[in-house]
Amino acid sequence: TVRVAYGKINDNDQVNGYILVLQDITQIRRLENIRKDFVANVSHELKTPITSIKGFVETLREGVDDEATRNHFYDIIEMETQRLIELVEDILTLSFLENEESGREGVEDRIHPGVVLREMIQMASKLAREKDIRIESQIQSDLPEIPFKEEYFRQMCLNLLDNAVKYSPPASKVWVTLKREEKYLKLIIADQGMGIPEEAKERIFERFYRVEKGRGRKEGGTGLGLAIVKHIVQSQGATITVDSEPGKGSTFTVTIEIVRY
Ligand code: ADP
Repeated sequence: TVRVAYGKINDNDQVNGYILVLQDITQIRRLENIRKDFVANVSHELKTPITSIKGFVETLREGVDDEATRNHFYDIIEMETQRLIELVEDILTLSFLENEESGREGVEDRIHPGVVLREMIQMASKLAREKDIRIESQIQSDLPEIPFKEEYFRQMCLNLLDNAVKYSPPASKVWVTLKREEKYLKLIIADQGMGIPEEAKERIFERFYRVEKGRGRKEGGTGLGLAIVKHIVQSQGATITVDSEPGKGSTFTVTIEIVRY
């Protein structure tokens, strides 16, 4: 797409030149479209729980005699409210990450990745225990500090661990490995879950993309977890890849450069 603009160059009412400007706005259009899609998606995602909450409140106001039914409705309202909170939090995180100056010069924090990862595994273990899933970790002991924003590292680990548990069957295992490979640090999170089809491997990092309609939403996900991870990884100069065999499991690998020049 090319935008055309032109004008006359005047000097004391005398036209002594013309100016023609051609500007390639393909990229601008593309970004505008992404933004429009995002706004439409956000509106839809917010509307679903709000409509549900409104409906159940109205029903309760009309009076529900049975106590068990009443409690069930309260549970739904609470769940939908929690969903709204998580959605708004994720949207704010994403918009914060987008506004942040990205690039390596922005990286100032240095962290001990093993220490932070262990904390996050503990947090995720709570959810895992409910499904009888064991998280097994192998964290190399003499790892160096790395340049990475601590808050981002936490969020990245938590989102990946949360997904590994969410999309795995009960009583399965999740393996977490943190190790050094020459000048890189590798964080590997592997599960025995439902896996990701080949054609979806790139798309799962898009906002609100879910492999199947319902997968994710049913599990209580916002559809923004991996979009946030991708932004974090990019802003810290790292990379993320996914390997998966549908029906067998998925492996996410984050590669972080230890030494920066
Ligand atoms: P959600 O909040 O839906 O989990 P994410 O952005 O974290 O959103 O993930 C996007 C989609 O990618 C999920 O809805 C799910 O379909 C798929 N996905 C993510 N992680 C895994 C995994 N470990 N195993 C299988 N599918 C996954």
